[in-house]
Amino acid sequence: MPELPEVETVRRGLEPVLVGARLTRVRQNRPDLRFPFPDRFVERLEGATVQRIDRRAKYLLAALDTGETWVTHLGMTGRFTLDGAQLGEFEEPAPIAGKHEHMSLCATRNGATTRVGYADARRFGFMGLIATDLVEAHPWFAALGPEPLGNGFSGAHLAQAWAGKTQNVKVSLLDQRTVAGLGNIYVCEALYRARISPLLAAGKVSRPRLETLAAVVRDVLNDAILAGGSTLKDFANVEGGQGYFQHRFDVYGREGQPCNADDCTGVVKRIVQGGRSTFYCPSCQKR
Ligand code: ZN
Repeated sequence: MPELPEVETVRRGLEPVLVGARLTRVRQNRPDLRFPFPDRFVERLEGATVQRIDRRAKYLLAALDTGETWVTHLGMTGRFTLDGAQLGEFEEPAPIAGKHEHMSLCATRNGATTRVGYADARRFGFMGLIATDLVEAHPWFAALGPEPLGNGFSGAHLAQAWAGKTQNVKVSLLDQRTVAGLGNIYVCEALYRARISPLLAAGKVSRPRLETLAAVVRDVLNDAILAGGSTLKDFANVEGGQGYFQHRFDVYGREGQPCNADDCTGVVKRIVQGGRSTFYCPSCQKR
C-alpha cells in the first residue's frame, strides 16, 4: 500500500504536468475501480483546466476550473504514468501496462502535451469528482485529523487527543482522526526514533516525549519524501520499481536483526497490535 511519502512524491511529479494544464482526450476503460467511476466522469473532466493539485492524507486532489475536484486514491497498486513511464517508485512493484490501464487523458500546458495514464492491477484505488466547496465535508475527509506535516499536528495536539487514553500508543497513532495519512511503516519508525515503547498507553506518554514524537513523525516522513523526490527527476527512465525506502527502515521489516542504534545491543522484535505488525527494539523502546 503506498504510504503518505509515496503519494506525496506522486503529487510532486504530477504537479508540473497538470497544474495549468487543460485536460483532453479523456478515456475511461471500465465502469469501476474499487467503486464505480463518477457519473459522466469523462464529460466532466474533458476540457477542464487544473488549478492546483493537493494531497490530503493519502488522497490526491486536483482542483479544476469547473468548480469540481478530481480525487484519486491509489489503493494498493494504483500508479500514474506520464507518457508511459511510471511516476514515482513504490515499495511494492506493480504491473502498469496494457489491460491494467483504466483511464487516461492528455494534459496540455504551455503548448506541450503529456499523456497521463492510471493503471491499477488490483483495483483497490478509486476516483471521485466532488464540488470543491464540499471537499472538506465529504465523508472521505470530514473525520480526518490534521496533516502530519501541517501546523495542526504537534505535541499539544497529541496531548489533547490522548488525554486519559488507555489504548497503546502504536494503535493510537494509526487512528486517522488523530493524524491523517500516517501508516504502519512510519508509525513503527517514528516510535523507534522517539524511543517510545509501542506498548505504552497513549495517555501515559509525557508531554516532552509527545513533542519529540510529533517532531520525529515529521522527520521520518520528510526523509522518505526526499528519498523519493530525488528519483523523480528521472521518472521517464524509471522501470518497474524496487522500493526506494526498503533499506532505509530502522525497524520495519527487520525482525530478528540488530538494532541500528550505536549505543544499543538489542534485537528488533515483531508483535501484533490491532491486527497489524509492530516492529520495535525492546531494549531502547522500554517505556
Ligand atoms: Zn535498540
